[in-house]
Amino acid sequence: MTKQIAIIGSGFSSLAAASYLAQAGNNVTIYEKNPTVGGRARQLQRDGFTFDIGPTWYWMPDVFERFFADFDKTPEDYYELIKLNPAYSVYFGENDFITIEDTLEKIRNAFEKEEPGSSKKLQEFMDEALDNYNIAIKDLVYRPGVSPMELVTTATMKKIGQFFSTISKEVRKEFKNPRLIAILEFPVLFLGAKPSNTPAFYSFMNYADFGLGTFHPKDGMYSVIIAMKKLAEELGVTIHTNSNVEKIEVQGTKVKGLLVNSEMIEADIVLSGADYHHTETLLKKPLRQYSEKYWEKKVFAPSSLLFYVGFEKKLQNVNHHTLFFDVPFEEHAKDIYDEPKWPEHPLFYASFPSITDTSAAPQGKEAGIFLIPLAPGLNDTPEIREEYFNKIMVRFEKLTNQEAKKYVIFKESFCINDFVEAYNSYKGNAYGLANTLLQTAFLRPKLKSKKVDGLFFTGQLSVPGPGVPPSLISGKLVSNLIQKEL
Ligand SMILES: Cc1cc2nc3c(=O)[nH]c(=O)nc-3n(C[C@H](O)[C@H](O)[C@H](O)COP(=O)(O)OP(=O)(O)OC[C@H]3O[C@@H](n4cnc5c(N)ncnc54)[C@H](O)[C@@H]3O)c2cc1C
Repeated sequence: MTKQIAIIGSGFSSLAAASYLAQAGNNVTIYEKNPTVGGRARQLQRDGFTFDIGPTWYWMPDVFERFFADFDKTPEDYYELIKLNPAYSVYFGENDFITIEDTLEKIRNAFEKEEPGSSKKLQEFMDEALDNYNIAIKDLVYRPGVSPMELVTTATMKKIGQFFSTISKEVRKEFKNPRLIAILEFPVLFLGAKPSNTPAFYSFMNYADFGLGTFHPKDGMYSVIIAMKKLAEELGVTIHTNSNVEKIEVQGTKVKGLLVNSEMIEADIVLSGADYHHTETLLKKPLRQYSEKYWEKKVFAPSSLLFYVGFEKKLQNVNHHTLFFDVPFEEHAKDIYDEPKWPEHPLFYASFPSITDTSAAPQGKEAGIFLIPLAPGLNDTPEIREEYFNKIMVRFEKLTNQEAKKYVIFKESFCINDFVEAYNSYKGNAYGLANTLLQTAFLRPKLKSKKVDGLFFTGQLSVPGPGVPPSLISGKLVSNLIQKEL
């Protein structure tokens, strides 16, 4: 008999799960509270400019290929991918930056110029990173985090030491130049924790960075959301936007459905791709698996202060992705993880999609996205946002040697309060629960509720973790568990 599956939210994980579950013959309906789909990956359009509100780095193209191949499709059936060259650049001071190009050979040359002898060391580091990538991304992350035994394989046993060392330590063993260290520690920031708190095994992120490269989907990351929405609808999924889920209805311990905009919707299975903490608040207290204390103790990935800026002119001395690492990372990391407060000297990241993509800005103008990572839960006011915009603009102008602020046509900001309001995000986190050793695989919040039959979870707070590729994988993992249950 066809089963009714109701899904909360329309982020990458929900859209992925919806397609798998519809393909398996279920009747699948998505309920999204916002007017458009995509969750953290929505799009902002203003005055001819187009911005990705959330993710901007398309990494691990093989994960996207694998996702579409499960439906006998390819990413190219839906969107055009552009490999970025350079992939990005990193500023360390005024007119002082390192450019990361699109092949390992070119990157090795750039390393050698910075630190003689580092090219060979980088090759060795990348050989290990590739090995880890093949173990982690081709296999381990496709295990559902149900049992610790999932992590015990011949391959992982050989790498056991790397689970108890950190990226920070391993990078520092081989490289002495602080600029190269900062570049090699950058990729694991996507996993949400400090490199000194991220297992060395996660060097597979370095392979994603230098080995596979950075891509830009034409028209932005949102075109991947559009693609996944289209695929889901082709498979028969129904999507309702402006549909706020107010309650998960349970009878005894069996899920019965959802209360959506005050209307009862019956379902055999409920799957939530909304933030895990929020989803459990839709249940009566005794049916929640994790207490407030549990969430309080977890290491969350940072929140962010973001600015979406329309510039009157094309900017100079920047690349599509440009990182500003001209201040010490340790100090900023302390303000995020150890003693949460607004950072005095924040690192920041900027993206200028209109350098690559004419659809991002009117001709002769530039679209800029600026991101400052922050501790979740900070006090967020319009005055503080303005102060930080001014702060980073002064640095941006100085470092890149140009006037920019006076060419701002408009700017919009997005910060902690918006993450809470738009996505019911716990403390306004931007990208979920960090991947530390104690928050990996079976140690993460479970995909299947232990207390409510027929209730499942997916997304960046569950297994395998933060980021777009893991969210696609999370959708697949949970749909397999649901199919097993049915
Ligand atoms: C600023 C930023 C930059 C990022 N950069 C990158 C990057 O460059 N590369 C990368 O790979 N990843 C990046 N990420 C991470 C990536 O975007 C996320 O991991 C991914 O999009 C999360 O998808 P998800 O399905 O878990 O959840 P979400 O996208 O959060 O989807 C959850 C959905 O549930 C909906 N919802 C919540 N409550 C309810 C309710 N009660 N009723 C109905 N609907 C509800 C929300 O509105 C939302 O649409 C970034 C994230 C952010 C925020």
